[in-house]
Amino acid sequence: MRNSRQNIADHLRVAVPETGDAVNVHSISRQRHFESLVNSSDDAIVSKTLDGVVTSWNPAAERIFGYTAAEMIGQKITRIFPEDRLHEEKTLLAKGRKGEKIDHFETRRRRKDGREIPVSITIAPIRDERGDIIGLSKIARDISSQVEAMRTLRRFEAIVESSDDAIIGQTLDGVITSWNRAAERIFGFSAAEMIDQTMARICPDERLPEEDMILERVARGDKVDHFETVRCHKDGREIQVSVTVSPLFDDDGTIVGASKIARDISDQIEAENLIRKQANIDVLTGIPNRRFFMEKAEVLMRHADIEADKLALFFVDLDNFKHINDTYGHEFGDRILTESAARIQSCLRKSDYVGRLGGDEFLVLLPTLSDRDKLGELARKILNALNVPVAHEGIQLVTNASIGISIYPDNCDTLAELISTADQALYEIKKKGKNGYQMFSVQSYVDIKRDKRLRLDLLNSIYKNELTVLFQPIVSLGDNQVKKLEALLRWHHEDLGNISPLEFIPIAEEIGFINELTAWVFEQVVSNLTGWVSRYGSDFQVSINKSPIQFFQDDDTPSIWSDKLSEAGLSTANLLIEITESSLMHKTNITERKLKEFKSKGIEIAIDDFGTGYSSLAYLNRFNIEYIKIDKMFVNRICESVSDFYLCEAIIAMAHKLKLKVVAEGIETVEQRNCLTDMGCDYGQGYLFSKPIAAEEIDDFIEPFVSS
Ligand code: C2E
Ligand code: MG
Ligand code: MG
Repeated sequence: MRNSRQNIADHLRVAVPETGDAVNVHSISRQRHFESLVNSSDDAIVSKTLDGVVTSWNPAAERIFGYTAAEMIGQKITRIFPEDRLHEEKTLLAKGRKGEKIDHFETRRRRKDGREIPVSITIAPIRDERGDIIGLSKIARDISSQVEAMRTLRRFEAIVESSDDAIIGQTLDGVITSWNRAAERIFGFSAAEMIDQTMARICPDERLPEEDMILERVARGDKVDHFETVRCHKDGREIQVSVTVSPLFDDDGTIVGASKIARDISDQIEAENLIRKQANIDVLTGIPNRRFFMEKAEVLMRHADIEADKLALFFVDLDNFKHINDTYGHEFGDRILTESAARIQSCLRKSDYVGRLGGDEFLVLLPTLSDRDKLGELARKILNALNVPVAHEGIQLVTNASIGISIYPDNCDTLAELISTADQALYEIKKKGKNGYQMFSVQSYVDIKRDKRLRLDLLNSIYKNELTVLFQPIVSLGDNQVKKLEALLRWHHEDLGNISPLEFIPIAEEIGFINELTAWVFEQVVSNLTGWVSRYGSDFQVSINKSPIQFFQDDDTPSIWSDKLSEAGLSTANLLIEITESSLMHKTNITERKLKEFKSKGIEIAIDDFGTGYSSLAYLNRFNIEYIKIDKMFVNRICESVSDFYLCEAIIAMAHKLKLKVVAEGIETVEQRNCLTDMGCDYGQGYLFSKPIAAEEIDDFIEPFVSS
């Protein structure tokens, strides 16, 4: 068996074909030279016989395949072949025998530890001096890292190609070098159309400077993260994208380009917009909701501050909306709200801003207030627009609205105050009779504050002992007797002093406290009546005022009162109820029924403030009333105004024809009393005789009349 040295010598002679004497000095030194080359090579350099028996095995082969030269030399080379590669040997040997060279044949071999590695093999025949092929030399390169790199590259390519994001390579001059499938899909341009072009093709003109900015930053080695912008699709449509750009380095670490990842966020932006819209827009009417309106208003107020400008706020509230909702149903209600929002909006300028505060309340903000008079015009325009019928399922309804107006910064310092002052102005117009507009004024602010306070405090007035009942004598004009009193309620507020019933009775009606008040008056009346009846006769009578609205509701008052009177040993004839003329005009059926109930219990009825309403005498007949009280307005002018004189005369004459008794209210002078007495008026009441006085003072007042 030849030693390995010899083999190498053989091998080298073949590997580097050299003609001439093989064993001269030169060849020996060259042989050493090649020997050291072989030993220091990174590639496995191996030789084998034509039977495939290993004849040399360099250190790199030891390292790459894990077998030492001693382990391999004399062994079949197939020892390092994986099973599925064994067939290769036959072919390789056959080619070698024919003297063919095999270049860079890529295959796999198995290491001693069993691990398979990719190798690139070059095989050349080894010839002897005569040129006969005696073996094969084989250079095997471990290409694991190249294969791995290639695999990584492929994987990377696959990732790039399958990415949902556009991945684009660019030179620092902006020339596109790669364009993946997602880029084709997102922007509509194929790679062929885009490579060697610049991004200008997909960039809206006004955004072009962005591209320069991005490349500049990348050239400096910076990364651009999630930059949201707009690019164009081939079809011209705009696409919202989020772009991340990183520098691309070459092997030396020099920045040579940019890698750009662009994500299509159009859907996301659309979804965000939708969410934002839903959070800001009132679902029913489609106009900004309260929250959004407030945000916007704050901004506009700050803007007004800077510009030293003013803002006006309209607080629009539909009149009687609750009634419509309750009567015609919520669908109709919704329809009216939607329609109202649209109509308000149609009256506004582009710069004006409308929002729905909630329910049937809308706010309109008018920036840049050039002309205060224009506010009234606009308010009218809105009211007129709202005053057009709304149709729903065959029904047509007209809604009215009221508008309260306040101006910033004239009337307030903050948004909350702006709204509350406009609300107060609204409150005022609602009180005045609705369907109109009202500018906020400090006076009305004071009034409203007072009104609101009274509303709260009235509820506590009874238990805080702030109420009293005064009694005003009613004198029989024919014989000067005093057999009647009118009970008049008084409220002494702990801070605000005396509050007129003309002020607090309407409040009690509004807040639903009137029944409690009347019941309380009734108790005071009853507690005093017993004594008066015993002293001045069983025909003594006290009248109690009842509010019109108390006649529009069904309750048990007639029987409760008659029971209580009889419990107190009194007759229902000792009580008289005064109702104003206006009560007869509304809901006549229920009023009539109510009056009949009182009548059936023996309680008499007087029509108060007669002449101020529009009731006809026919009504008086129908309602079966005993007394009418001529309003003090007529009595007051009876001596000066001929028409009032005749009017009083006519009322008295006609009342008598209908068998009604007449009381004249507000007699302040002897002339008035004489006039009325001459006309045959039955009773008189007024300061001439007495102001309303406390129950304890009544005896002192009546005594002189009784004795006279
Ligand atoms: P009314 O029922 O017409 O009462 C007569 C009003 O005229 C009383 O005013 C009385 O003080 C006033 N008066 C009487 N004589 C004269 C006079 O010679 N000159 C002038 N200028 N006024 C005179 P008052 O007490 O302020 O009551 C005002 C209204 O408040 C009453 O008008 C009545 O409608 C209502 N009211 C008073 N007490 C009650 C109550 O207990 N219940 C209800 N529902 N209303 C009441
Ligand atoms: Mg009265
Ligand atoms: Mg009256």
